Amino acid sequence: MAKIRIEVITGERVVYAEDADIVVAPGVVGELGILPQHAPLLTALQPGELLVRKGNEEIAMAVSGGFMEVRPDKVIVLADTAERAEDIDLARAQAAKQRAEQRIEEQRDRVDLTRAEAALQRSVARLKVVEKRRKRQR
Ligand code: ATP
Repeated sequence: MAKIRIEVITGERVVYAEDADIVVAPGVVGELGILPQHAPLLTALQPGELLVRKGNEEIAMAVSGGFMEVRPDKVIVLADTAERAEDIDLARAQAAKQRAEQRIEEQRDRVDLTRAEAALQRSVARLKVVEKRRKRQR
């Protein structure tokens, strides 16, 4: 079966780079599933789960935003941050969520609120990926 090269890169590291069957990404206008030979496209990403399927293997990652470029030869996900499910620190994400919620409640100013909302989205995305992984392992 045809494969598609998928590279997930942040400013810090290459998180994933392999030939796979499909990638499902959290586009800003909704989930996008990319199969081999997909038409070229460029989209911004929102915080959420990035899922790669390769045979029976499913690789889940949390991304906090960035861009995905579908090229004829490969898909490049240039993420603001990306972690594979097994690398997500659950306690850290929970603490980040709590902090963000508290800051939203305090509502000091617009800038702070916007930043807190973004932090909340990042933490929720990480927690969802961890939760889904737990369910799959049950
Ligand atoms: P925190 O407040 O816990 O730092 P954050 O959402 O502000 O969370 P980011 O700025 O998105 O963190 O990410 C900073 C770096 O830390 C990135 O390299 C990201 O991959 C990593 N990171 C953030 N949260 C986690 C987590 N819960 N588990 C593992 N790595 C994380």
